[in-house]
Amino acid sequence: MTARSSGRPRVVVLGAGFGGLWAARELARHAVDVDLVDRNNYHTFLPLLYQIAAAEVEPEGIVYPVRSIVRKFPNVRFTMGEVTGIDLAARKVSAGGSELPIDYLVLALGSVSNFFGVPGAAEHAFPLKTMDDGIALRNHILSRFEQAQNERDPSKRQRLLTFTIVGAGPTGVEFAGALAELVRGPLVSDYRSIDFREVRVVLLEAKDAVLGMLPRRLSDYARDRLRSMNVDVRLGTAVSRIDAESVTLLDGAVFPTETVIWSSGVSGDPVLRSWGLPQAGGGRITVGPTLQAKGHPEVYVVGDLSLAETAGAADPQVAPAAIQQGTTAARNIVRQSAGMEPLPFRYKDPGTMVTIGRNAAVVHMLGRSFTGFPAWVLWLVVHISNLIGFRNRLFVLVDWAMDYFFYERAVRLILASCRKCAS
Ligand SMILES: Cc1cc2nc3c(=O)[nH]c(=O)nc-3n(C[C@H](O)[C@H](O)[C@H](O)COP(=O)(O)OP(=O)(O)OC[C@H]3O[C@@H](n4cnc5c(N)ncnc54)[C@H](O)[C@@H]3O)c2cc1C
Repeated sequence: MTARSSGRPRVVVLGAGFGGLWAARELARHAVDVDLVDRNNYHTFLPLLYQIAAAEVEPEGIVYPVRSIVRKFPNVRFTMGEVTGIDLAARKVSAGGSELPIDYLVLALGSVSNFFGVPGAAEHAFPLKTMDDGIALRNHILSRFEQAQNERDPSKRQRLLTFTIVGAGPTGVEFAGALAELVRGPLVSDYRSIDFREVRVVLLEAKDAVLGMLPRRLSDYARDRLRSMNVDVRLGTAVSRIDAESVTLLDGAVFPTETVIWSSGVSGDPVLRSWGLPQAGGGRITVGPTLQAKGHPEVYVVGDLSLAETAGAADPQVAPAAIQQGTTAARNIVRQSAGMEPLPFRYKDPGTMVTIGRNAAVVHMLGRSFTGFPAWVLWLVVHISNLIGFRNRLFVLVDWAMDYFFYERAVRLILASCRKCAS
């Protein structure tokens, strides 16, 4: 890697997700040199990742090449590579086989699935955090149907055709709805020898409500809507063990399933501890009001990894928080390098919206709540407009239109090999 000799402050931004990309875009407008690093050469629009797993949209529709974004900015350089270490004393980062010198660091490495120590979960459950996860899950689900259509043993068929989602937060609810529609729509025509009364989509939630962070009226609507779509919603049900062929519940009940999707929680990547960055609750890094890490004023932490607080409450691990924090961190770095005090961050909550399926969503914003078709239309408009790039919006719109008007999911493809598809 060639060194830069502009004499301007060097800012390394780790992670090209929502937090890191928005930080880099803001920094690009100022007199600093920026190194943006990610293990992937693309940015992933995670809110639609579950639609990859449900064969609803094509992977290319929700990712965008980072280089297409940064090539517009002469002072931003992108490195594709794994971040393997941070040495704050020596002021350098090891990434992609290179060492990058830092004056300022923006840590925006996101989160990993938190299996809460449930035995077997890390080995046997499918996380839904990356594009690879989404494609692997799609492959696995479709492969279960391929196997089930020739399976004569009823108990084996039951395992193959039971799909269990753990965690009824937004991702669990959205995926349960999308999977139920995939199963009851396109797959019924594809697998004519399968008796679809044998197919079960189960949603397990330890708390007593789905979408527990929303007002009760909205969570009840989502629960009832899922049940009307034949999703077996089980509340107050905690998982105690997962293996390759079953899930065991805390009350001792065991039910057979070869597909467990884990959407129950996230934490900061435990590897950060070995880099000397102390992790607090949920593996997040505690920051002060200005988003600077405790004891390291040159390090800003944003997005899922940041334990930032607004009005005494931890900021949520959602895309708008990451975007707002990334932008604020960038502005604070510019202020700091000009000898000014960084400004405190305040999260502005734009509201929450979750879709359950065709014509059904819940929206809670600006103190108002609504459900049904208007909420669903708003969900569509917001998600399409937040995708990066005209081509991506067009791809996703076409896929949605095919699904809505023709009940056709064009991406019912078993493509790459994946760790759990075989057998
Ligand atoms: C399935 C799913 C659905 C979601 N739905 C919604 C939603 O509907 N609305 C909403 O607001 N939020 C949603 N979220 C949450 C939202 O996506 C996150 O809060 C947001 O992405 C956090 O941004 P971030 O920049 O912290 O992390 P990310 O966007 O995850 O970006 C982290 C980046 O760091 C890179 N990286 C990580 N470790 C390394 C390493 N060691 N070396 C190199 N690169 C690395 C990753 O490749 C990634 O590009 C969803 C999340 C998921 C997983």
